[in-house]
Amino acid sequence: MNLKIAIIGSGPSAFYTAQSLIKKNINCEIDIIEKLFCPYGLIRFGVAPDHQSTKNVSRVFERVLNNPNVEFFGGVEINDYPSINEILEIYDSVVIATGMAKDRVLNINEKNKTGYFGATQFVNWYNGHPEYKNLNPCLNTDTAIIIGNGNVAIDCARILVKTIKELESTDITQYAIDTLKNSSIKNIYIIGRRGPLDAKFTTVEIREMGELLDCDTILSPGTKNNIDKKLLDGDLAKQYRILTSFDESKPKNSNKSKTVEFKFHLSPTEFIGENEITGLKFKNNLSSNEDCITINAGLVISAIGYQGDEITGLKSDESGMIIHKNNIIEDRLYAAGWVSRGPSGVIGTNKHDGARVAEHIENNVKSKNSSGREGLKKLLNLKNKKYISKEQWFKIDQEEIKRANKSSPRIKFTSHEDVFNFIDSI
Ligand SMILES: Cc1cc2nc3c(=O)[nH]c(=O)nc-3n(C[C@H](O)[C@H](O)[C@H](O)COP(=O)(O)OP(=O)(O)OC[C@H]3O[C@@H](n4cnc5c(N)ncnc54)[C@H](O)[C@@H]3O)c2cc1C
Repeated sequence: MNLKIAIIGSGPSAFYTAQSLIKKNINCEIDIIEKLFCPYGLIRFGVAPDHQSTKNVSRVFERVLNNPNVEFFGGVEINDYPSINEILEIYDSVVIATGMAKDRVLNINEKNKTGYFGATQFVNWYNGHPEYKNLNPCLNTDTAIIIGNGNVAIDCARILVKTIKELESTDITQYAIDTLKNSSIKNIYIIGRRGPLDAKFTTVEIREMGELLDCDTILSPGTKNNIDKKLLDGDLAKQYRILTSFDESKPKNSNKSKTVEFKFHLSPTEFIGENEITGLKFKNNLSSNEDCITINAGLVISAIGYQGDEITGLKSDESGMIIHKNNIIEDRLYAAGWVSRGPSGVIGTNKHDGARVAEHIENNVKSKNSSGREGLKKLLNLKNKKYISKEQWFKIDQEEIKRANKSSPRIKFTSHEDVFNFIDSI
């Protein structure tokens, strides 16, 4: 039996699935098919550039890619052509691991407002995602608002307030550094619709906010009094201790030029400003009457969660999560990672999906003498579609590392065109 398996997407869930298949010693050929030229999904484009140790998990995935039975097809989007059905015809089994790459919408009057971004857009921009490199967020405002109480909200704030020196040792894009150099932002409000004990921040991320070179982190006045201490249990107590170690006002003798303030119990209701945002109105959720406050700001980023993109031929719910049962979509077709579970958990959480899908494939999939890799190459050839092979990716990876200056780990390619030009030149 030599199973031909296609995995669509190349984030953690794709690689954990491939790793589990390899560990099981299933006699198989695995093709990882990715719409971008590069592998690793949100490890490259989500995880913050100043968290290089987290990004190091890609070394584990690199070993998977190095396995002789694994191939990479970068720059190949599975949707209209090739479609899921075409892929299912040429492989014995197909795993959907396409993640959730769209922002959940605020659903107030944010449409067409200049100065408003979803966190996906902003994060992808600073991380060099080819589809967002031209976002050009205008940081010519003294105040920014970030809506959301998860780590992504903190990531966005941290990148906005870090000094260029603090960012130099990261793989943030040069165009983001140039924009941040000219930023006028001095104050950032991180807004939660519920209280501090409901926040989804992890302790490491909160702690980092107290260690910034040129930024004080504070809580809005009264926060500590409003916390119901009866609710504190193990993990919450730790988070509470770190969060409440911040003052409720900027230290008087501080010489730091920026401030991040956590504000809670506020829900956004209305953007102020015709086309360009000048502020945002919030309802006070602790108040029984229609109390509202307005914060003047020229930049608003919402980090309130993610939605999946539709893939033609697959059924999903309103959040974009693929309909499946225990990771099985239908015979020979499986789902893993965020697209199957929703946008939650850490990188390692995707391991369980990968293991489960590998188990299903081991127990249920039989070889039907599929053409697999050769069939895919033919399909791509038919429409003159170029792809990036794993050998080419390794060359791109080496080039990115070679181009880096002494402190940064790599200078990323940020467009498909540049990548294909580079490949043609070697
Ligand atoms: C901003 C942000 C920061 C994060 N930071 C951390 C962190 O510090 N630590 C941590 O543990 N976790 C972090 N996470 C969570 C972690 O990144 C996810 O758990 C993980 O990446 C989900 O893996 P996945 O494979 O399901 O999806 P993804 O990583 O999103 O991978 C999906 C891949 O599929 C590709 N794809 C999509 N559609 C198609 C298609 N039609 N055809 C071909 N390819 C397609 C995409 O381009 C992408 O490469 C973060 C998440 C975000 C959003």
